[in-house]
Amino acid sequence: MSWDSNIRKVTPYIAGEQPRQADIIKLNTNESPYPPSPSVAECIAGIIADDFRLYPDPDCKSLVHALAEYHHVKPEQVFVGVGSDDVLALSYLTYFNSSQPLLFPDVTYSFYEVWADLYRVPYRVIPLDDDFQIVAEDYHTANGGIIIPNPNAPTGVFAELDVLEDIVRRNRDSVVIIDEAYIDYGGTTILPLIDKYDNLLVVRTFSKSRAMAGVRIGYAIGSKRLIKYLSDAKFATNSYTMSNFSLAVGVASLADEADFREKTAQITATRTWFAEELIRLGFSFPKPMGNFVFATHSTVPAADLFITLKKAGIFVRYWNRPRINNHLRITIGTDEEMRTVTEFLKKYLGK
Ligand SMILES: *Cc1c(COP(=O)(O)O)cnc(C)c1O
Repeated sequence: MSWDSNIRKVTPYIAGEQPRQADIIKLNTNESPYPPSPSVAECIAGIIADDFRLYPDPDCKSLVHALAEYHHVKPEQVFVGVGSDDVLALSYLTYFNSSQPLLFPDVTYSFYEVWADLYRVPYRVIPLDDDFQIVAEDYHTANGGIIIPNPNAPTGVFAELDVLEDIVRRNRDSVVIIDEAYIDYGGTTILPLIDKYDNLLVVRTFSKSRAMAGVRIGYAIGSKRLIKYLSDAKFATNSYTMSNFSLAVGVASLADEADFREKTAQITATRTWFAEELIRLGFSFPKPMGNFVFATHSTVPAADLFITLKKAGIFVRYWNRPRINNHLRITIGTDEEMRTVTEFLKKYLGK
């Protein structure tokens, strides 16, 4: 077929399953088990259909200003998009146009190589060490950009900030993106360093800790210059990315800090006892710093556990990829859900 040779062919990202049965325990895509803040529900109750008649504000001022205030930065340092996947994809288009390779860890968010493929960005994966830790020196090499999640996904490993700062400092001629999708479960943010390094971009999402994966809100914070370039690319693609609805509920979520803290603290508390149970059951894992545990069992293969759990209505995530094909990523749900999982594993493993 003649036109086929003109097609941009890509291997798409494979998202975790979204089964719609009601009676399952869904621990496979790191969503929050709790509802968003009541302030979000109140906001929705106040929305009327006529609010959707006009185009939304293309500058997303309401949400940008709320985020700037929340993070103590200037509005010119904030960019919002349709989930962090949208922000990250646009970041690839904007920042990674070098003939030198983009660098990211070998075990990481699998979307990173998909965008590299989509935008024809050359890339090189940098192996994590045997404990799934980032080795800063390995990033002291010619590159056209760097992207690293902290904590990393799916390992849950948190990189100390001096490690990441070393990478940002040694690569002043590249844009370094730190994807902080899981920063709200005990890690320390690298955000304060954006004032020191104009090549550092921090990306966040409302999908995990703000329990709003279904609304699609993500954002980036960085130097004014970085944000200006990202914004230019957006206005060259689609000016109206954020609906009136998502702008309104995003602002509402940020207004309720107490609820946010309470729920993230609850998830980290659940994580603590669940991790102890897993150890008793013969699992091991790197110190979990996200809302999930990345566990391997001493005797039972992860692939078998994955299938067994699924048959029991417990959905977790498994990747048949090098280095991680004997691990399961288990999202932290409610205490009740995690008790059910623990009881099931006790019986299955004969403990
Ligand atoms: C979940 C996740 C994202 C995407 O989040 P959305 O805002 O829902 O698009 C980005 N990066 C990492 C590492 C994630 O785990």
